[in-house]
Formats: sequence, structure tokens, C-alpha cells
Amino acid sequence: MKSVNIIFIDDEPEILAAYENMFKKKKTLGKLDKFAKVKKEKVANKSSKLWDSFDCKIQFASNGLEGVAKVEKSLEEKSPFQIAFIDMRMPPGINGAETAKRIRELDSNIEIVLITAYSDLNLDEINENVGRPDKLIYFKKPFYNEEIRQIIMNLSSKYENERIKESFISNVSHELRTPLASISGFASFLKSSDNLTADQEEYVSIIKDNSVLMEQLVDELLTSVQMMNGKFKIELIKQNPVPIIESAAKSMIPLFQNIKEVDFEVDLEKVELNVMLDATKIRQAILNILTNAMKFTKKGKVRIHCFSENGDFYLKVSDTGIGIPQDKVKLIFDRFSRIEDNHHSIPGLGLGLSIVKEIVYHHNADIMVESELGKGSTFTMRFKGIA
Ligand code: ADP
Repeated sequence: MKSVNIIFIDDEPEILAAYENMFKKKKTLGKLDKFAKVKKEKVANKSSKLWDSFDCKIQFASNGLEGVAKVEKSLEEKSPFQIAFIDMRMPPGINGAETAKRIRELDSNIEIVLITAYSDLNLDEINENVGRPDKLIYFKKPFYNEEIRQIIMNLSSKYENERIKESFISNVSHELRTPLASISGFASFLKSSDNLTADQEEYVSIIKDNSVLMEQLVDELLTSVQMMNGKFKIELIKQNPVPIIESAAKSMIPLFQNIKEVDFEVDLEKVELNVMLDATKIRQAILNILTNAMKFTKKGKVRIHCFSENGDFYLKVSDTGIGIPQDKVKLIFDRFSRIEDNHHSIPGLGLGLSIVKEIVYHHNADIMVESELGKGSTFTMRFKGIA
């Protein structure tokens, strides 16, 4: 039996009663079927084996605020609703879109079905306001029971699969973190020892550098889970961006030192202006871009450069690496995208730039890429400066 918690929010008692009817067991439905005048209704009321394997716990609310309160309570009681069916028009209270928005603020995972009889909705506006359009469905009245059941069965499976995927990634990442921290920590400890031969010193450096890269991959995985379940939060604080960039760049110096044929040039101009920034997230974005530059450059130079121009703040990372084919440039910010032809042997999950894109988006900033195959790439971030 699959257990599903569902809430129906509608101001019309007859509609709530119709929903309730849908969950009555077969016997009652059989009786109802006898009286059904239209054949379609008979068909619609028929149960299926699959539907019978669902154990639906249903609650009702007759207005938006009551619905929001019930969702809040379910979260407190650690028994959240997987699906909310919300009527669009519920005068005189808050409408369905506003109800959905408030519910989404409380629970980023719930699947929302907005029931509407109108075709003139501004879908872009509602999607934007409510958030997570991947978990928002519009459904027009009138509907048949079977359609609603189908939605419930599909959405609850989707919800469950997402939960399994997220908890799997996040458990694996947390489990990897602790051993990685010891490998990295003990490698640093060994590195500081005086009586290592040149060979031993080199091997310890390799262990250290690779554990740092793996720690970054684990962080990427955890961040991508946060992005998936809407828990990716940014706290913008007005500050000078240069010290953050400097600290991130410095942390990459030891990694570059081990790549003999690549120079790492740090060229940070002092700037007077401030920017609204989340320091931790910007550091993560810079490290992702620098790590890529390092991974995809075998010879030449990687340069990080920042400056201000016309009141904006610019951060550029350029490399003389393998470059990206023109037709692939727009794909590299997608999740799990990797331009495989070029680098079968270079490690990565294809998540780094999707995280960078999300971070840049939350900073109201832009990111641009210029690249030429075989010559190198330049990633430029532009932030609005504040005096
Ligand atoms: P990952 O580096 O883990 O593969 P990213 O999302 O960071 O994932 O990057 C996506 C893809 O974009 C990379 O796999 C690579 O094909 C391409 N790419 C990113 N940065 C560079 C670069 N500096 N030079 C060449 N290709 C790059």
C-alpha cells in the first residue's frame, strides 16, 4: 500500500463532497454506478487495481487561509501533504494562486494542482509568483474522477522518487565527507613533515590535491540537492568583493603549483565600489570556474582578473585550455552536461556550472563565456556596483 497525504482546498461544499466520493471504496461506488445516468460517469467511477493499492489520507479546507494553516500543521507534525488541490477562485478570501504561493513558501516539495475554470490566466505571472513550476499543474473544471486519480497516482510517485533521489545523494555525500576530510587533513599533516624525500612529497601533494577536488565534488552534489528541493538560500550583504575573490584565488595556488606547464596569474585591481554578495556562494562559484580552468588547461596560463567599469564590477577567469565548441557553449550551464568528446579522462559530474548559473542568477548578475576550440575560454561575471 502506498500512503499519500492529500489536501483539497475549495470553497464549494459540493466540490469537496465530490472529491470525498472519489475515495469511497468499491462497494459504495458500485451502488452509485447503478444510478449514474451517463455512461461516461460509470466509467469514470470505476476503480483500478493500481488505485486500490493507494492508501489516501485526505483532508479538506473550505478557504485558502484554512488550507495554508492545515499545511503548516502537517509540517509541524512531520506528516506533510504530498499533493494539494487548490481551487483558483474562492471569494471573498485569498485566491488559489495566493494560497499556492503561501503553501509553497512553507513547503518547497509539495505538488500543487491549481483547479480552474478559466482559460485567461496569466500563467507566467502565477509560475513566477508561486515558484517551482516543475511542481505546479493547472487543471480545468469540469473533471472526471479518473482524471484526478490519475494525477494523484502520478504525482505521488514523482514525489516519492524525488525524495528517494535527494536523500540518496545527500546521504552518500555526507558519508563521503568525513573520510575525505581525514584524507585531506592527514595529507596536509604529512606534507608539513621535514623528513620526506622529494618523491614522497610529490605523492603526498597528489593525495592532498585530489582530496580537495573530491571535497569540491561532494559540495557540488550537496548544493545541487539543495537546488533541486528549493532549499538553496542566498543571503546578500553589501560588501567589497575583492577580499572574497582574493581568498578563493589564494586557496587555488597550491593546486596550480603542481601543474608544471600552467601559470596561475592573480590580477585583482582594488575597487572602491561595493556589491550585494553572499560571500560563501560567490567563493563556491569562483572555485568552480577556476577548477574548470585548471582541469581543462594543460599548457599556458590561467588568469583571474577583476576590475570596475561604468559602475559595474567585473570578474574574469581566462585560460589557454582546450576551449569549447561554439555550438556547445550554451549547453555547458545545464545540469549534468559535459562536452565529452574533448575530455573523457577529466573527472567531473557536470554540475559545477549549473551551480554557478544559479548563484549568478540569485545575485542579479550576468555571466558570459567566450571560447575558441583549442585556444581557450574566458568566463566573465558582471555585478551591479553600489557606491
Ligand atoms: P564538470 O567540470 O564537472 O564537467 P561543469 O558544469 O563545471 O562540469 O562544466 C560543464 C562542462 O563545460 C565541462 O564538462 C566542460 O566540457 C565544459 N567546460 C567548463 N569549463 C571549461 C573550460 N574552462 N574549458 C573547457 N571546457 C570547459
